[in-house]
Amino acid sequence: MQNIFVGNEKRMNQPWVGGIEAGGTKFVCAVGSGPEDVRQPGNRVVFPTGGDPTALLAEVTTWFLAQQVERGEPLAALGVASFGPVDLDPTSPTYGYITSTPKPGWGNTDLLGPLRDALGSDLPIGFDTDVNGAALGERMWGGAVDLDDFLYITIGTGIGAGGMARGQLLHGLVHPEIGHLRLPRVPGDTFPGVCPYHGDCWEGLCSGPAIERRTSTPAGDLPPDHPAWDLVTHSVGDAIANLVCTLSPQRILLGGSVRKAGRLGEEAFFAKVRTRVRTSLNGYVASPALTEAGIVSYLVPPALGDDAGVCGALALGLGAIPRR
Ligand code: ZN
Repeated sequence: MQNIFVGNEKRMNQPWVGGIEAGGTKFVCAVGSGPEDVRQPGNRVVFPTGGDPTALLAEVTTWFLAQQVERGEPLAALGVASFGPVDLDPTSPTYGYITSTPKPGWGNTDLLGPLRDALGSDLPIGFDTDVNGAALGERMWGGAVDLDDFLYITIGTGIGAGGMARGQLLHGLVHPEIGHLRLPRVPGDTFPGVCPYHGDCWEGLCSGPAIERRTSTPAGDLPPDHPAWDLVTHSVGDAIANLVCTLSPQRILLGGSVRKAGRLGEEAFFAKVRTRVRTSLNGYVASPALTEAGIVSYLVPPALGDDAGVCGALALGLGAIPRR
């Protein structure tokens, strides 16, 4: 039997939970109690999201049931960090649903119901947006430890952001949809955008599919001097400046595939965005974090890298365990 805690006595007593990073292109499932467990290939699996939620959730629950058999112990809890929009209101009849997503086959899908049916109705489940999940993971183990006000942004297939205000995950009427902020157009940029709801919202202008539609080239293959990089980093910088003004985060973690910027490179991408954030703010928000030197450690990649999401799902699971 596999023992994920070999050589680490202290962590033997930590709760063993499951986590699902439910993304629009793939579901990443893991078991364990933190990032070290997630990094071990035997503790995680990836399923393509596809267009059939019933079939996918059957695969997911089969994997968790097998993990329980292998370990000889039930999960203490499950965390689900999902793409959305999702219904986060526990009093709502559609709590735990993915609601108005344009993703084919996934509109109005009960995500938590089939998980409870298969894994037990008494299994505690923590449920939140994918980006709030990633934010929580960074708060527990990554780049936002000890911060009470911060943001986690992802720019990939879509754009979203989660985070905390005064130590609480950002919720509200539904949940923030920061990727759909409307932005001033970069002068001369006439690209209509790809968001089916808004056209040229932030996601419509700067997501991976937006860059590919603009240039007929996947973002990762664009030459470093392609003008699209200037347009995209300009809009990303404007959006982040808006977030600095509205939420006053103590740090901003910027994840997702687009920030790796392929042939341009992550460092150059961040340098362009940081410059635009400062230009857009134009010195108005006075903080050492926003100086030319300070912003280098203010606007940063996630410390957990691409594991932020699945670690966050585990963190949601740990948070769902009832306190004695
Ligand atoms: Zn939009």
